[in-house]
Amino acid sequence: MGRVEGKIAIVTGAAKGIGAASAKALAREGAKVICTDLDETVGEALAAEIQRTGGEAVFARHDVVDESQWERVTKLAEDRYGGLHIVVNNAGIAPEGRPIEDKPLAEWRHTLAVDLDSVFLGCKHGIRTIKMTTAKGGSGSIINISSILGLVGSANASDYVAAKGGVRLLTKAAALECAEAGYRIRVNSVHPGYIDTPMVRAVVDRGMPGLGVSGNEMVQFLTMLHPIGRLGAAEEIANTVLFLASDESSFTTGTELVVDGGYTSR
Ligand code: NAP
Repeated sequence: MGRVEGKIAIVTGAAKGIGAASAKALAREGAKVICTDLDETVGEALAAEIQRTGGEAVFARHDVVDESQWERVTKLAEDRYGGLHIVVNNAGIAPEGRPIEDKPLAEWRHTLAVDLDSVFLGCKHGIRTIKMTTAKGGSGSIINISSILGLVGSANASDYVAAKGGVRLLTKAAALECAEAGYRIRVNSVHPGYIDTPMVRAVVDRGMPGLGVSGNEMVQFLTMLHPIGRLGAAEEIANTVLFLASDESSFTTGTELVVDGGYTSR
């Protein structure tokens, strides 16, 4: 028996990085996974790879800021697999760094929409669907991917830290609502340090031209921030997602699981 055998999961932003690793880990451990993303080519390839290796997955194009698309994706879970137990609210963006005084309001709003509104929508439609699936038995889990930058601040990332800090407390509100309503749904947030994914590679490639910092120096700089002496791997976050998705975490709700190589311990 896999650790999430028979459960049905939606993973957003599943084409790459942490989302792809989480979708693979859930499928490997027996879940049926709806992989969603904007990137159809890579998303379809991921679902096909999961199928090829003996797992069950389907891809759906899904913009996480669009409520009608959440309705479509949760309906897909019900129609194709018979319900829903797990939502991993993972899709997100890291905008180019800019001080508050230079940040256009439109950029702020876009980041808040993709990194925070999406998690609200994922909780809303996740709770509605999971509570029906689990009404007669079983349990559900919503996992919201925040960041170390939802716990501590960072210059030139006001929109990102505001969104990720919002995800942290939105998670606790959702956890309390589910517990107090008697739903069998746990809701937790995950706070990764810097993880080697396309998102971080883009940050590294940009460097910090204003400060004369190159891409190579940027990797060294980011590595130094992690006492463990390296950046994380997407699979290390996927392992945390798997734990929170499984019944192994049956008494864990409203918590913030920090997976950061010691970044926030200093
Ligand atoms: P990634 O490599 O950029 O992958 C994110 C995926 O989400 C991409 O496939 C992206 O598609 C998709 N996406 C973006 N906007 C979307 C939208 N509106 N609707 C649906 N899908 C969308 O990112 P990652 O590093 O794996 O990060 C995943 C999550 O972890 C994010 O929430 C991020 O903030 C968080 N996180 C990451 C790190 C890190 O160091 N990597 C650290 C802390 C927290 P496109 O590529 O087509 O845009």
